[in-house]
Amino acid sequence: MVRLPSAALLLLLAVTAAGAQHPLAHPVDAVEVRFARAHPVITYRLVVDSADLTAFDVEMRVRGAPDTFRVAMAAHPEYDDRFWRFVDGPRVEAGGRSGTATREDSALWRVVAPGGEATVRYRVRLPAPEPPPRAAWRPFLSPTGGLTGGPHAFMYVVGASLAPSHVTLDVPRSWEIATGLVPTSDPRTFFAPSADILVDSPVFVGRFRDWRFDVGGVPHRVIYWPLSGATPFDTAAFVGGIRGIVAEAVRLFGRAPYREYTFVFQDGAYGGLEHFNSATLGAPSAALARDQSEVLGEAAHEFIHTWNLMRIRPAERGGVDYRQGGQSRGLWFSEGLTMFYADLLMRRAGLRLGDSTRVVHLERLLARYLSNPGNTRISPERASLAEYGAPPGSLGDYDPSVHVQGEVIGAMLDLVVRDATGGRRSMDDVMRLMLERYAGERGFTGRDVERTIADACGCATRAFFDAYVRGAGQVDFDRYLRLIGLRARVTREPVLTPDGQPAPDRRVFAWAPPGAQGVNLLINDPSSAWGRAGLHTGDRVISINGAAVTTWPEFRTAVVRARVGDTVRVEVMRPHGRWATNVVVTGHDRPVVRVEELAEATPRQRALRARWLSGSP
Ligand SMILES: [Zn+2]
Repeated sequence: MVRLPSAALLLLLAVTAAGAQHPLAHPVDAVEVRFARAHPVITYRLVVDSADLTAFDVEMRVRGAPDTFRVAMAAHPEYDDRFWRFVDGPRVEAGGRSGTATREDSALWRVVAPGGEATVRYRVRLPAPEPPPRAAWRPFLSPTGGLTGGPHAFMYVVGASLAPSHVTLDVPRSWEIATGLVPTSDPRTFFAPSADILVDSPVFVGRFRDWRFDVGGVPHRVIYWPLSGATPFDTAAFVGGIRGIVAEAVRLFGRAPYREYTFVFQDGAYGGLEHFNSATLGAPSAALARDQSEVLGEAAHEFIHTWNLMRIRPAERGGVDYRQGGQSRGLWFSEGLTMFYADLLMRRAGLRLGDSTRVVHLERLLARYLSNPGNTRISPERASLAEYGAPPGSLGDYDPSVHVQGEVIGAMLDLVVRDATGGRRSMDDVMRLMLERYAGERGFTGRDVERTIADACGCATRAFFDAYVRGAGQVDFDRYLRLIGLRARVTREPVLTPDGQPAPDRRVFAWAPPGAQGVNLLINDPSSAWGRAGLHTGDRVISINGAAVTTWPEFRTAVVRARVGDTVRVEVMRPHGRWATNVVVTGHDRPVVRVEELAEATPRQRALRARWLSGSP
């Protein structure tokens, strides 16, 4: 087992990886021409046997490799599911003789196969299904279909990540295939121009609904995989909504950066994950029958990542690697501006949203920002570094959201650009400039974002970045809202139960570190009843009100029982020994934000406001 490296070491690894040339900088054809002779020729066969859906088999044929080489399972920079834990094998065959595969590290094997040709075979035994809903990006197999491929299935040859490969899928005959991999003349064989593309292109197989449309001559595909007994929903409206989002995103960035794009929607799943030219998304049919805006919003988010994250890339985000290296200072931009545009592009597409107007959306965003003290106490750059690959609680008693921090920053900077250019430019121009500058050899740093915005607006942005991006502080909303004749009025009101009584403060959380005993506390607001009683993130829970707590459900049950006025005895273990405290459970309040028009707004401010309200660039 690898020990989890320290955050500093991970950062170092990430920086080193980013220092190497990013393979995606080269057009696909150039990669083939330059490296086809120097790199091994790799073909994969992935077998799903309907008689045994607990596992799938992978055969990897490597030709033109040295006698000794290494293969590895890639770590996803955001969701590292560590599927190397479920690999059975590998076994190696070399020209009729057996070779050897020796595990050198958790996700890394040394293969010895003299003769320049090796077949590496292994089986991936799927972990027991999670209690529903399932994470949309995690592999599964069922009698009517499943998700496979990607970093959970394919090993790559270390040091040959630019080697192209072919993938043949041996799946039940009645199943169809949806993937971002490049189709070939054989409907069951696909091409991956590099290991990056291979591990970033999961493969959905099974029986599903299928729609296709073009935007600007570029094909797009939407598939929906239903559970048995799925609730019927308006599929025409759904696919029409996706099409509208695609058209607006392509309009924003100028063109589609892929040859074709596939949306994979799965019933019974939650969440979503962006890829180079596909997205995997949870889309419960019952939710789609009720209200499609939430699923469409998630689809918009993952689709905007096609540009903002996959191409406009934080400097630290490198190519395929078996060590997790997702720590990026710029994630506030990658996630926050993606949130900003998911809302805005849906408005431009004329889709109905949960937040009826841009003002309502802004009010709720600012309230979310203020309700979590981590958002104003931890700088977005620091929060970005801890977003992926760091264990829960790595920022102590705060838990900021880079999505919320970044969207607030993006919304305010959009106003700065509009004001400085008299409405001629907006954040749209910043996004296009970022794409032009940082989708190539080199990703962006915080200074690059600052410079790009300054170039777009012809104004100084350094003080803003010092205060709110590199530094931690509460964004002075009114200073920026005033530019378009608005202001925010912030009040606090008590959080109430459905029957109007003060709701007990249960803002205490916990997680069970893998491989360790018991559960650790997570405090995300030191001024909560639990924080005020002296509890801290990382305290290991021994008992609550005298009853031993060793699992997360036991913890949750004990906390849910807490009523206003109760005194709850919590005993914890700390590095120096046992410690106990009495938590006096109180009510609590939350911020409420009203965005109002300034009575004294000038005609210029009113004009900028009208344009902003309409969602126009
Ligand atoms: Zn995202």
